[in-house]
Amino acid sequence: MPIYLNIHTHHPSTEKDTLSIKNAQTVSGWMDMAVGKFSVGLHPWYIKPESIDEDFAQLEKLARQPNILAIGECGLDRLINLEMSFQKEVFIRQIHLAESLQKPIIIHCVKAYSELIALKKKLKPRIPMIVHGFNNNTQICQQLINHQFYISLGSALLNPESNASKNILTIPIKQLFLETDDKNCFISTIFAHASTYLTEPVEVLQEQILQNFKRVVSADSSVV
Ligand SMILES: [Zn+2]
Repeated sequence: MPIYLNIHTHHPSTEKDTLSIKNAQTVSGWMDMAVGKFSVGLHPWYIKPESIDEDFAQLEKLARQPNILAIGECGLDRLINLEMSFQKEVFIRQIHLAESLQKPIIIHCVKAYSELIALKKKLKPRIPMIVHGFNNNTQICQQLINHQFYISLGSALLNPESNASKNILTIPIKQLFLETDDKNCFISTIFAHASTYLTEPVEVLQEQILQNFKRVVSADSSVV
C-alpha cells in the first residue's frame, strides 16, 4: 500500500497508510516521544533568551534519539518581538546541530526569506533544508528552488487561489513535500488536491514524495 508522507504535523496521526513527522516543541514542555517519528527544535516563537542554554542542551540530548528524524521547526520570524540577530544566532546553532547529526532541518520562515537564503549561502550546510508551510509568491518560490531548498505545502492547497496552489507546478517534484501542520485536515486530502494540480495520480505522488523523504533522512530505510 502506498504511504502518505506527512513531513510536518502537530497532531498524532490516526490516518491509515500514513507516516507522519510530528513536531515536538521545546520550552512549552516536551511531548511524549516514545512512539512515532519526530522533529525537535527551538521554534522562534518559544525562544526564551533567559533559558536558551538549558533549552539548547535539552534539544541536543533529544535530537540524538533515533526516532528524531529532523531538527525543527526552527527558523526566522520577522513578525515576533525577538531581535532578528538573536533569532539568527539560535537558528545557526540548530543548523550546526543538524549538520553534526546529519539530520534534515524543517524551517519556519515569516518575512525573512532573504535572511534565510543569505544564511544558506554563507554556511553552505550539506543537510537538506525544508521550508515548511510555504504559501508565498512565485519569485520567492523560485529563489528557494534555485538554492536547493525543499518546499513543503500544506492546507493552502485547499484554496485554488492561494500562492501554494499557483506555485505547485513550478516546484520540481524532487523538491516537494506535503504536510498538515497544525490544521485539522487529512494528509490524504492534501495529496488529493496536489495530485489534481499536478495532473499526476495520487500513487505516483505518494511514491515520489516517499523517495524524497528517503533521500533527506539518513540512509536507514527502516524508517519507512
Ligand atoms: Zn508547524
